[in-house]
Amino acid sequence: MKKRYVYLFDEAYGLGKELLGGKGAGLAEMASIGIQIPQGFTITTEACGKYYADGQCLCQELQDEIKKNLERLQTITGKKLGGEQNPLLVSVRSGARVSMPGMMDTILNLGLNEKTVQALAKITGNERFAYDSYRRFILMFTNIAKGFPRREMDLMLENLKSEKNYQQDYEVPAEDLKVLIRNMKAWYLENVGEKFPEDPWQQLIEAIGAVFHSWENERAIIYRRMNGIPSDWGTAVNVQSMVFGNKGETSGTGVGFSRNPGTGEKEIFAEYLINAQGEDVVAGIRTPLLIDELKKQQPDIYYQFEKTAEKLERHYKDMQDMEFTVEDGKLYFLQTRSGKRTAQAALKIACDLVDEGLISKEEALLRVDAKSLSDLLHPTFDSKALEKATAIAKGNPASPGAGTGKLVFNAQDAKARKKQGERVILVREETSPEDIIGMVAAEAVITARGGMTSHAAVVARGMGKCAVTGCSDAYIDEETKKLILHGKAYGEEDVFSVNGSTGKIYAEEIKMEPAKLSPEFLRLMTWADEARKLHIRANADTPKDAITALGFGAEGIGLCRTEHMFFGDDRIFSMRKMILAKDVYSRQAALEALLPFQKEDFKALFVAMKGLPVNIRLLDPPLHEFLPHEIEQMQELASALQISLSEVKERISELQEFNPMMGFRGDRLCVAYPEIARMQAKAIIRAAIEAKQELGLAVEPEIMIPFVIESKELKFVKSIIEEVCQNEIEAAGVEMKYHVGTMIEIPRAALLADEIAKDAQFFSFGTNDLTQMTMGLSRDDYSKFLPYYYDHKILENDPFQTVDVQGVGRLIQMATNLGRKTNPTLHIGVCGETGGDPASVEFYHSCGLDYVSCSPFRIPVARLAAAQAAIKKVLSKMR
Ligand code: PEP
Ligand code: MG
Repeated sequence: MKKRYVYLFDEAYGLGKELLGGKGAGLAEMASIGIQIPQGFTITTEACGKYYADGQCLCQELQDEIKKNLERLQTITGKKLGGEQNPLLVSVRSGARVSMPGMMDTILNLGLNEKTVQALAKITGNERFAYDSYRRFILMFTNIAKGFPRREMDLMLENLKSEKNYQQDYEVPAEDLKVLIRNMKAWYLENVGEKFPEDPWQQLIEAIGAVFHSWENERAIIYRRMNGIPSDWGTAVNVQSMVFGNKGETSGTGVGFSRNPGTGEKEIFAEYLINAQGEDVVAGIRTPLLIDELKKQQPDIYYQFEKTAEKLERHYKDMQDMEFTVEDGKLYFLQTRSGKRTAQAALKIACDLVDEGLISKEEALLRVDAKSLSDLLHPTFDSKALEKATAIAKGNPASPGAGTGKLVFNAQDAKARKKQGERVILVREETSPEDIIGMVAAEAVITARGGMTSHAAVVARGMGKCAVTGCSDAYIDEETKKLILHGKAYGEEDVFSVNGSTGKIYAEEIKMEPAKLSPEFLRLMTWADEARKLHIRANADTPKDAITALGFGAEGIGLCRTEHMFFGDDRIFSMRKMILAKDVYSRQAALEALLPFQKEDFKALFVAMKGLPVNIRLLDPPLHEFLPHEIEQMQELASALQISLSEVKERISELQEFNPMMGFRGDRLCVAYPEIARMQAKAIIRAAIEAKQELGLAVEPEIMIPFVIESKELKFVKSIIEEVCQNEIEAAGVEMKYHVGTMIEIPRAALLADEIAKDAQFFSFGTNDLTQMTMGLSRDDYSKFLPYYYDHKILENDPFQTVDVQGVGRLIQMATNLGRKTNPTLHIGVCGETGGDPASVEFYHSCGLDYVSCSPFRIPVARLAAAQAAIKKVLSKMR
């Protein structure tokens, strides 16, 4: 059967978001439950795939199908595209599977030309409205279908307004709009090199192509990468008959959420603009009024909106983000979708929906984006410091959080200064989707225009970035890079603090304090712990990190990198002495000096973890990393060791390697200098014995050998550790269990995991090195060329952040199976960066690992991701 690419909204119910995109599926679903929508049709995401496969063109077959459905739409509406009596005007909107607010393009009022504009004026009896709609269409078509920035045409309107002294767009009368349109068309002819299209069919085909094309614009690509959206999903296009919010005082347009997207409170949260079209609200072109205005002026419409919002929420069992238009006192819903929300709002809404009996705990867990939890763990303003500070301006509290930094006035500067290690606040008149890179780099965002539903607000909430929008006292001169507030100019060196929860802005730095966890957070985490199978440990090297990790729910330490313990002022000298030692005796003497420090550090860690598992890895990095680089420091070392500077230099240069990441590191150090492993094992086991004897803690240390490639190598190092531990335990006369295992971070170790497992009590996958070695990607250099791999779609994710399931993942799965074959009690975890990444956690769950280990601030993310993985697996088995 011939594949179908176009469906009327009325017949598309049940075809799903994959095919129809979120917006198309929402419209089909609204149509099916009797909500008033303007009719139209969806061109599927598969058509987008075809558009690209056909070399970015709409083939004849697709055009024919569009035409056929356009005719059906004309029959339903009784209007005709290009009709000179009763013209059909349409919007052409993108709609991907998941919402990508503001990232792709929309064209409104399509179908207008010199003739239909007159017909529209006649039918509506409102000439101003007709020409205003035409002006908007020309602007959007030029910008989106032809790729020219809006600026020139926006300026034409601004100049006209200031020439004639009009304050608002809607004050510009029809006669002036006609002149403006003539000028815009002349500009179009001169710059685009052709006449502005009069044929509505040509307009439609070009607009549909442009929306498909916008799937590959830069901001959409960046957004996809940030949110892990595959590039082959494509977008659908919705062609929908227009309803007009700019017809007069009883018309308007709004955006509303069925609950507050910032806090999660159960209250209608909407904004409305009288006599305006939707883009004015979303693009922040005019700062809208709160919905109360609609309630006062058209209470019937308001209550109808409120009831429909509730109906939609109950239907979807989730908070909805709706666009609506009132045309001559009649309410239409243009779209509904699950609303973007802050992490805190997501938690509150999920808990409330469970309490309201709408969803189960498992569904609630799946509703919260695991990654977003880390937004809640970051510091807020210290409450005392905040009380003392004086706000100099206030805007909309668009996205909660706190940020402090120096002012920047465009996205490029934000990115560049962030790269240099500065904290910056992005200040814009209004943000457009191009600003997304700057928003990522900034601590907070301030805009002078735009409401709570403007692009800046929606995107900032989505990324958990603190934002204050519509700060109307602010005048921003983006050219000279100045923010002017109450007559005072602030520039790039001024430090501001921004409170996204209150909308207040301060011209000073305010001290921060650790975040406080909300009751909803704790509740959801309890549910997550009930659902998950994977245990969650922390990568922590200090008692401070360990305590933070425990506070976030860590069940142990999965990786303590001992190398970080040698850098303290009181130990680095002995470490360097050990490295520079000429013989085993002097090396042993230096190690002897390090032993008490190591023992105390390990003991503090055992005490902090209160008897929970602690996995300590033996020294891993190449020794030259501990030696000084500055000549003064070398001199100091030489004097202290009573050797010459040239001897120090010579030893440093001896230790230099061409490829240190594959060099003299990991257990290779123990093979060459067994005394290092001996000292560390002694420190670990003594610390454990003391923690047990003095505090009664049930410590069972795990001693981890890094960088193993061969079972004989593991046996060799393990025998050293065992000999030391046995002697210490016997000498202390205690019962003490300990575990010796290895990291699997070199492909050979994974390939020979069955052999290696015979001598290991545990495996811990070090995906940082395993990815480096498997993919041949240097972990220190790959970021230089990774962007090219993104550009050419060879890679979609950073494999050091999200495990490469096909390659590295295959090794992990294989090594797990092989290891368990020869050692059924083998305990297995992951301690590389990927251990805290939700997509990777899902994979590790499916591999049957016992735990993942990640940095303390990612523990809640991993707990939730592990729960989601377990729930999804059960659901997939039930299907
Ligand atoms: C790893 O390689 O994944 C790992 C945890 O070790 P490191 O990052 O210290 O090399
Ligand atoms: Mg490693």
